[in-house]
Amino acid sequence: MASNNGLKASEMFEGQVHLYKHLHAHAVDGMSIRWMIELGIPDIIHNHDQPITLSELVSILQIPPTKVRGVHSLLRYLAHNGFLQIVRVHHNTQEKEAYALTAASQLLVKGTNLSLTPMVEYLINPSGSPVWSHLKKWTYEDDLTLCDVSLGSNIWDFLGKNTEKNKLFNKAMASDSQMMNVALRGCNWVFEGVESIVDVGGGNGTTAKAISDAFPNVKCTVLDRPQVVENLLGTNHLKYVGGDMFKSIPKADAILLKWILHNWSDMDCKKILENCKEAISGKGKRGKIIVIETVINEGQDEHGITSLKLLMDVKMSCLVNGKERSEEEWKKLFVEAGFQSYKISPLTGYLSLIQIYP
Ligand code: SAH
Repeated sequence: MASNNGLKASEMFEGQVHLYKHLHAHAVDGMSIRWMIELGIPDIIHNHDQPITLSELVSILQIPPTKVRGVHSLLRYLAHNGFLQIVRVHHNTQEKEAYALTAASQLLVKGTNLSLTPMVEYLINPSGSPVWSHLKKWTYEDDLTLCDVSLGSNIWDFLGKNTEKNKLFNKAMASDSQMMNVALRGCNWVFEGVESIVDVGGGNGTTAKAISDAFPNVKCTVLDRPQVVENLLGTNHLKYVGGDMFKSIPKADAILLKWILHNWSDMDCKKILENCKEAISGKGKRGKIIVIETVINEGQDEHGITSLKLLMDVKMSCLVNGKERSEEEWKKLFVEAGFQSYKISPLTGYLSLIQIYP
């Protein structure tokens, strides 16, 4: 008789279902989302003004009859995962199933202010998975990151040499930062008394623009790698500076670090934070650092939010020697970099806003 290590048959079958669910989701979960935007399905549903039936969608997309069953299968799975909603509609006197957008797929309509399609195009790309196929090799390569092992250099050097990838990356980051237009709306108390801010690693300036739109009295500077900011034009309220945050950071009342510290080890973060502290020196009570990052809180967060944070932690730990941090880990870092106090406030579904004071 086959050994089942003391498990009941039902437990073993449950284990098999759990395992298969994850194994089969590999590639399909991400690629089905990319497929949906490549075919423009969210845009079609959005422009249709009402839920769309399978036959309507098939006719608009001119899907060959041999593929209709497969398309239906993909749509059903996407609906099961919360990317479409299945509703009943009356169509030519018949009741039929139709697809509507959900909150998640509304964000996949192209060309809107809050579209996350650039994030899909960056994260779900066919050349992405070979990086992860080096995970075993990475385990034994001492200090090397998964990027070092698979791409031959760290992520920033790789992006610096690959113009197309660099564009995709910057667009993806900018799409995430568009959310700041909504998230920072209620944050007057954060910017009270702040007259100047430097967004360190601020990419193409999307967050800085959101700040200068919402708080026109704040003068913004974006510091990023020269390759990222070299062709960008500033305004009266927004200036771009090419440079290296490990060397020096322009002086301001406040420094913003959004999605920066999770890319770096504690030692590197200490250096960045010390440079930030130097940049706000002499600003008295106005001087502070604003960090926008995740705070891992398994005890309090919903399971889905913890899943996202742990998944991002895997990516940061393996790809770049960074990490997502718990409050304890953040606190330790702030104390080591010489800060006196901090305050964590919720910002979006998974990001917190942390203010740190010297
Ligand atoms: N803050 C942006 C981008 C986050 S990605 C956002 O949330 O959308 C990290 C950013 O750090 C990238 O734009 C990258 O170019 C920048 N970066 C990496 N190393 C840097 C360095 N040494 N000095 C300045 N910026 C750097």
